[in-house]
Amino acid sequence: MKVYISADMEGITGVTHWNEVDPKKPDYAQFQKRMTEEVVSACRGALDAGAEKILVKDAHYTGRNILSADLPEEAELIRGWSGHPYSMVQELDGTFDALMMVGYHSRAGSGGNPLAHTMSSGKIERIFINGREASEFLLHGYVGAKHQVPMAFVSGDRELCREVAEVSPGTATFITMEGVGDSTVSIHPEKSLRSIRKTVCDALKSVDKNSAWQLPDEFELSVRYVKPTAAYRASQYPGAESVSPKTVKYRAKDYDDIMRFVLFCV
Ligand SMILES: [Zn+2]
Repeated sequence: MKVYISADMEGITGVTHWNEVDPKKPDYAQFQKRMTEEVVSACRGALDAGAEKILVKDAHYTGRNILSADLPEEAELIRGWSGHPYSMVQELDGTFDALMMVGYHSRAGSGGNPLAHTMSSGKIERIFINGREASEFLLHGYVGAKHQVPMAFVSGDRELCREVAEVSPGTATFITMEGVGDSTVSIHPEKSLRSIRKTVCDALKSVDKNSAWQLPDEFELSVRYVKPTAAYRASQYPGAESVSPKTVKYRAKDYDDIMRFVLFCV
């Protein structure tokens, strides 16, 4: 069994403030360690379930957060950003048996996490895919769907896990915390580590290659920008359509084209 883990930081247990996810700030170190530990727990759960190969994408900010020597030797780690449209799931393809997301967070415009955002926090107000408000989970989940890789596990804040349950009822989730205004209510980090390992193991034992999401025949991406100037610029992308001063729509049959628009315009 070959599994893919995409790891972000804003949904790691206890993370509450931007200073805690910014390598230039002193608060970062303890949460860098915690992110690493939660990814290690997911890897251990995968190995418990019989995984032979694990590919981890460090998908937060610089893409250089996870302490690689702490990962089990079966894992390989993608650090940095290649510039490929698959972004947070770079190198994902049909050879994987399962996709998992660790430390993910609720979407832009949601009250579910003080750090809620979708891709770029300063630039994007909302993203919709086929009319549904999209988080980074949904945006990258469709890449899994394109390659028929089932979404086996997601950990993060409560609101994100609610979205996962709606979109992907077969996916196991683990709630690390709940956002309340500008605060978080988190479980104990040690409990997260134990539970992530067990939930991942159970999920992978019953994962079925045929349970990947069904891919829609066509996609309509609608992006609402913070600034009309950014929307104007994005509307110049070939095939993009300006629908209001702040909103641009882009339609494609191939989901790769959607992710390509995201790469250049989000
Ligand atoms: Zn992040």
